Amino acid sequence: MTTDIFADTLAEMTWYEVDQAAKDGAVLLWAFGVIEQHGPHLPTGTDVYLPQARLRDVKRELKDRGVQALIVPPYYWGVNVVSGSFPASYRVRPEVIRELMADVFQSFEGDGFKQVFCFSGHGDALHNRTIHDGIKLGTERTKLDLSFVMDAALAKRLGIALDDANITVPDGPLNEGLKFFQINASSPSSPQSDDTAPRYVDVHAGRWESSMMLASCASLVRDDVRKTLKSTDLGPDDLAVWRKGYLEARKTTPLGYFGDPAAASLEEGVRNMKSSAEIAADAIVKRIRAKEKA
Ligand SMILES: [Zn+2]
Repeated sequence: MTTDIFADTLAEMTWYEVDQAAKDGAVLLWAFGVIEQHGPHLPTGTDVYLPQARLRDVKRELKDRGVQALIVPPYYWGVNVVSGSFPASYRVRPEVIRELMADVFQSFEGDGFKQVFCFSGHGDALHNRTIHDGIKLGTERTKLDLSFVMDAALAKRLGIALDDANITVPDGPLNEGLKFFQINASSPSSPQSDDTAPRYVDVHAGRWESSMMLASCASLVRDDVRKTLKSTDLGPDDLAVWRKGYLEARKTTPLGYFGDPAAASLEEGVRNMKSSAEIAADAIVKRIRAKEKA
């Protein structure tokens, strides 16, 4: 458990070590988060801390599968629509992000890397569309194999075909692990319409996200505050309004969270982090092997 976002990234390595890793065929993992309000109990860097914690797990899982990976320091000036009218929620134009991504991809190529796997730590649709666009731009300007690791539900929500060359989609049914992607990167409203679908939606700084923060950055959770927060008890219709963003979102969730933070638990967070790392590692290995054969 660490709150150091450089921990285990290539920023801790020397250039000799990075150079050697490129020569050894290491792949790169790169998370795209945002600084954004996360209610009265979670830090504004939640969408950066969580994907970094996840990538450290993914890196370990890949090592167990015989794949060397380096973690790139996180990108954290993302796109904010939903929380756009809250303090400490910064907004960057998509074109700035796309161009920055393409420049950094070119640098990776110059260093001799071949494959980059991008992850999102933030659910805003425009944020995720922008990452996908940046990957496409990088693909035009380099020979790198670039992809966005996302679940089928997010692809659907963004209107991206499942056979899109620039996405890596984990296999399998929507399990506990996929909930991380589903909720963190898209939303729980999209894929499930069965009887087990919860009546209330938990999408932002609620139960799932607070659980994962307890599991990965507990020292930053205002736990005494968290335990006093009431469930928002908002459903899919409220979510649709909230997603319009800015003042609509602030009116829907005046305290900033959307869900049930008091119901969070360390155990749930540990379980989600673990399974989301495993399925991501499996999907990455599958793509690596497919590229080797091609
Ligand atoms: Zn978040």
